[in-house]
Amino acid sequence: MKHFLSIIIPVYNEEDNILCLNEKVADALGSIDSDYEVIYINDGSKDGSLNVLKQLSGKEHITIINFTRNYGQTAALQAGIDAAKGDVIIPLDADMQNDPDDIKKMLELYDRGYDIVSGWRKDRHDNIIRVIPSKIANFVICNLTGIKLHDFGCTLKIYNAELLKSIRLYGELHRFIPVLASFFGGGANFTEIEVKHHKRIHGYSKYNLSRTFRVVLDLFTICFLQRFADRPMYFFGGCAFILFLIALFSLIISFFAEFIYSFLALFITGWLFFGFAIITMLLGLIAEVLMRTYYESTDKRVYNIKEIL
Ligand code: UDP
Ligand code: MG
Repeated sequence: MKHFLSIIIPVYNEEDNILCLNEKVADALGSIDSDYEVIYINDGSKDGSLNVLKQLSGKEHITIINFTRNYGQTAALQAGIDAAKGDVIIPLDADMQNDPDDIKKMLELYDRGYDIVSGWRKDRHDNIIRVIPSKIANFVICNLTGIKLHDFGCTLKIYNAELLKSIRLYGELHRFIPVLASFFGGGANFTEIEVKHHKRIHGYSKYNLSRTFRVVLDLFTICFLQRFADRPMYFFGGCAFILFLIALFSLIISFFAEFIYSFLALFITGWLFFGFAIITMLLGLIAEVLMRTYYESTDKRVYNIKEIL
């Protein structure tokens, strides 16, 4: 099938990779019967990346977006998604760890009727300290969100542009796009395919172990959004109920305490938890108000209609 492909490439300190990557992308796309554009997003690079990118500017297919400062990979991807004119969006890392040659077979799979074709770096060439936490993270994300993929972190994926443009990315949520797409995007038909992964030759990885911690926090947000985005009170109310039970339990057993100190400790704990329960309920109310503001101000719907017959 003929498409218009938008390749989006976030760049942060990749001066030695850009030209070589650009050639590889052009070669790979030259063998595909679709028109394309390549959008580079310079995410506040501090090395010579911008100068190298300027050598490409004005060339056919190429668009360069230059950020005022470093906003992070997710923001760079979002800028690329916003600027993309194609019906298919394909993000790619600038460090040549992803292989543009894989796009062809991914596209063939996409044409069988998928909205997302996810790359799976089965044979991954990264430091073991990165690979193991990533494997655990993928396992946990897969089981908690119910999205059956092996490699959420692989940037190389093929997306239906309409679907991808219907969701917004915040923080470092780009690795959760399939989850967000399947929930906020109104369901997504996705599959995965093994892709090549190369060792990084030039430049350095921008992430370290602290990312694992941030992924856990993001996962918490995603799970919350997936289940309670349009009914936050059920989450906060549930927590408040548990806190209330702890409060009640402490207060009741405080009256059976043998010593005055145990009585006081339990009595105070009881009232403390009672306070926590009320605060949690109030947080729930605030979340309900925020949720309504969100849906109404952005004209978002809590449902997505596929078609009206
Ligand atoms: N990147 C970016 N902004 C950042 C960090 C990274 O645009 O703040 C880009 C980076 O240039 C690369 C991609 O995101 O194209 C993935 O980064 P990296 O290779 O460091 O991640 P890893 O492969 O180690 O997970
Ligand atoms: Mg990399």
